[in-house]
Amino acid sequence: MASSSVNSALQATYDVLIIGGSAAGLSAALMLRRSLRKVLVIDGGQPCNRYTPHSHGFMTRDGETPAQLLALAKAQAVAYSTVTFLASFVTNIAQNGSGFVVQTDERGAFFARRVLLATGVEDLMPPIEGFAECWGKSVLHCPYCHGYEVHSQPLGLLGNGDAGYELVRLTQNWSKDLTLFTNGLSTLSAEQQRQVQQLGIPLIESPISRIEHENGLMRAVYFQDGSRVPLTAMFARVPFRHHTNLAEQIGCEITATGLISVTEFGQTTVPGVFAAGDNSSPMRQITMASASGVKAGSWINRELIDEDLVAMLSTELKTETRPA
Ligand SMILES: Cc1cc2nc3c(=O)[nH]c(=O)nc-3n(C[C@H](O)[C@H](O)[C@H](O)COP(=O)(O)OP(=O)(O)OC[C@H]3O[C@@H](n4cnc5c(N)ncnc54)[C@H](O)[C@@H]3O)c2cc1C
Repeated sequence: MASSSVNSALQATYDVLIIGGSAAGLSAALMLRRSLRKVLVIDGGQPCNRYTPHSHGFMTRDGETPAQLLALAKAQAVAYSTVTFLASFVTNIAQNGSGFVVQTDERGAFFARRVLLATGVEDLMPPIEGFAECWGKSVLHCPYCHGYEVHSQPLGLLGNGDAGYELVRLTQNWSKDLTLFTNGLSTLSAEQQRQVQQLGIPLIESPISRIEHENGLMRAVYFQDGSRVPLTAMFARVPFRHHTNLAEQIGCEITATGLISVTEFGQTTVPGVFAAGDNSSPMRQITMASASGVKAGSWINRELIDEDLVAMLSTELKTETRPA
């Protein structure tokens, strides 16, 4: 996108602009505000875990609601005068001199020396009646986050091919009462299928027609062939998309699996643009997103220190060498 299309007058300039104010973005903000950086966090308020009643596995906060977790993180962020939180949606990003200009939908444009994309991802629900209603409650994305609550119960696994096989291997630990649903002809290899059979796990190929549930709590899965399997929960890997195409707009490389390509410290392929959290990692847990935000925040601060030192030292050099 040409920078001329970012046409609103700049509202303010910042050291760092963080797009997305959830686990990754607020963790980066924590590092940056404690490094005395002027930070703007712009957040659309759609964290991916908002469907789940309880969040698990984050140290000191096990079992809290996602909203409680975020409210605390946000309150601590804005307690520092150098952090501003703006509820808005970023629609455009463009390089502008030594920094970046981002345009929001209704709140104008902002300039920053560095940008962190902490935008998460949006999970796409398959067209199965009842699936979306159960998402986060009894249709679960990750056994580490929600497996304990349903352990030893009759569980379904929705997946095919390598992904389905991997789900079978992983969830063994939580229940022995498992059924694999490939929701169409199985694409597991003959060897994978043999192992599934050896583990005593039924494999059902008939497409799922609907999920019977009460307020998102699953009772059974119905199939197009008329059969029914009673279940209390199901693990499912669903496809995702990015909330926006900001990464593509600014020219970041995207991996074959659709994530933003980053280094260990969150550097994308575009200098000055960083990414952290679910948008650049397949390990979808709050701890992981938070850790990547911390790493990116620290690295951004380091870059800014280096940049300022270079400018400061070259100015002093010029002053010293100025003829009398
Ligand atoms: C149903 C479900 C339950 C989960 N349960 C657990 C659990 O129990 N324990 C656990 O550890 N993990 C859990 N997770 C995983 C965890 O929620 C994620 O790993 C974590 O939220 C990722 O943080 P993030 O900051 O990368 O993205 P998100 O939390 O998804 O936040 C991204 C934010 O960026 C904003 N945004 C996106 N684009 C823009 C834009 N252009 N402008 C402004 N804002 C934008 C969004 O509105 C959103 O607020 C769960 C996930 C799901 C889907």
